[in-house]
Amino acid sequence: MKPTNLDDFHRQMIEAKQSYFLVEKIDLIQEVSSHAYVEVYNSFIPGFVYRSDCPFTTHNDPSIPLILNPTSKMYYCHYCTNAGNVVGFIRELESCSNSYAIIYLADKYNLDLPMEL
Ligand SMILES: [Zn+2]
Repeated sequence: MKPTNLDDFHRQMIEAKQSYFLVEKIDLIQEVSSHAYVEVYNSFIPGFVYRSDCPFTTHNDPSIPLILNPTSKMYYCHYCTNAGNVVGFIRELESCSNSYAIIYLADKYNLDLPMEL
């Protein structure tokens, strides 16, 4: 979303900082595991890569998995091509706004969000 004034810009900067904070604090694998079945996909890759069924669609073909990378803290779904971090995961799963996803995660993990830039 393009900011239309300084207040919007300021709010979006704080949201970006809060998203970064949550991505650092929350274990992506743990969060996705609470919504979908997750298993180790390739233990030969350092840091392990995990796979899951796509939680955004009804498909469950294990040959086209959702991949979770704990090193980059990102996911990518080979079926629906949805990708992102833990905040984007919740935004997509709940079809909600970015601010709602941030509050949802902070509340779930009992984290105090940074409120200033
Ligand atoms: Zn998907």
